[in-house]
Amino acid sequence: MRDPAFSFEFFPPKTPQGTEKLRATRQQLAQLRPKFFSVTYGAGGSTQDRTLDTVLEIQREGLPAAPHLSCIGSTREGILEILERFRAHGIRHIVALRGDLPSGTVDVGEFRFAQELVTFIRERTGDWFHIEVAAYPEFHPQARSAHEDVLHFKRKVEAGANSAITQYFFNADAYFNFAEECEALGLTIPIVPGIMPITNFMQLARFSDACGAEIPRWIRRKLEGFGDDVASIRAFGLDTVTALCARLLEQGAPGLHFYTMNQAGPTSTIWARLGL
Ligand code: FAD
Repeated sequence: MRDPAFSFEFFPPKTPQGTEKLRATRQQLAQLRPKFFSVTYGAGGSTQDRTLDTVLEIQREGLPAAPHLSCIGSTREGILEILERFRAHGIRHIVALRGDLPSGTVDVGEFRFAQELVTFIRERTGDWFHIEVAAYPEFHPQARSAHEDVLHFKRKVEAGANSAITQYFFNADAYFNFAEECEALGLTIPIVPGIMPITNFMQLARFSDACGAEIPRWIRRKLEGFGDDVASIRAFGLDTVTALCARLLEQGAPGLHFYTMNQAGPTSTIWARLGL
């Protein structure tokens, strides 16, 4: 197997303090030599400038960075403008998503699915960008069926994606089952597991409900049982997520993408424990 590819995801900070904190986080995580850092993109383009600013700051530090870009609620002209800006700044790696409409928005814009965005990027910019797309081992919450979701993923790959990053999950079997199904459909791109360190139960439960990621009952019950005991939540979270990562790598996952939540601690501890 090739060397596993590791990457770290940030969200664009909103305040000068957040920007400072992210710099410190990045300095620490850069020592782990990830393949790239990625920076999320707010629903409906709400963080467009901050996403780009963060990516450019990372690039100036000599580190590889990829902006996320979502298309729902956008026009073709608007997306093309953003792609041209990325190109002008020498950005060659992008995470292409549909995104979710901010609540209250009714205009879906000119793209309905990420597949259309990938097609558009290829049409307009050829092979300039390495395109990552999202994958859902536990299936996207809006998918009509598990099988259709995989077929939609296949179309997105065929539209020109180079690799995929998954939604986070805590059940390794869901990932391997999804990867096998993709392989059986002839898909050969790397599908890199997205890893969410566990540090805060309430926040994790809220995210998981929204994105359709399952917290297995035994994990949920343990976390609930710790109540406000943050140290126990963190210790259990580190053990559980490290074990998940170890199994994923041992059984052939092509790398790991960490949802860092702009914190270096949990990701670097898991990294050290994995002996990477
Ligand atoms: P799609 O691949 O378009 O899929 C969305 C749904 O539509 C699925 O249910 C799929 O089965 C269905 N579908 C797809 N094609 C068709 C078709 N042709 N006909 C009918 N149904 C179809 N969100 C953000 O706003 N900003 C971010 O930065 C961000 N980063 C993310 C990074 C990763 C790694 C992941 C996994 C998710 C990220 N998200 C982000 C969340 C993502 O935008 C949402 O999960 C969104 O609901 C779906 O985006 P998608 O690109 O997977 O959509």
